[in-house]
Amino acid sequence: MSMNKYRPELGRPASGRRRLKDLLLQSDNRCCADCNAPDPKWASANIGVFICLKCCGVHRSLGTHISKVLSVTLDDWSEDEVEAMIEVGGNASANSIYEAYFPEGYTKPGPDASHEQRAKFIRSKYELQEFLKPSLRIVSGKSSLGSSSAKSFMDSFKSSSTQRLAW
Ligand SMILES: [Zn+2]
Repeated sequence: MSMNKYRPELGRPASGRRRLKDLLLQSDNRCCADCNAPDPKWASANIGVFICLKCCGVHRSLGTHISKVLSVTLDDWSEDEVEAMIEVGGNASANSIYEAYFPEGYTKPGPDASHEQRAKFIRSKYELQEFLKPSLRIVSGKSSLGSSSAKSFMDSFKSSSTQRLAW
């Protein structure tokens, strides 16, 4: 109370919305995380990226278990959802994970990409997680590539921890 940090008379939801707006104003969030279109007004609250309306449509089609889409201006955000966005840290930070490894010569779609190009890219990026760091692909458990590298990762982890226990 003496810290005067919280001012209950100003109400609660404003602080979450203010923080979300601040995050949106961060320079890397001024463009869509998926196609670089300027001024994104949508976000995937569980992935932690700001996206444009067109990409939002594709995200929605993936289902909320993969991407939970919310409007920055129109939807009500829970404190947890705002918190999750802030924790990811914005588009650049999210893309450093989801776009860690593009195949050689690969170009991600731009703002004028067709719906098909856009949909294919977004599925590859978030659903199949094809561009993720191999060690992070464990969570997907979908692609055979992922499971084989996950296995060798686990094997090396196991042998090193066994060694540590043994010695
Ligand atoms: Zn976009």
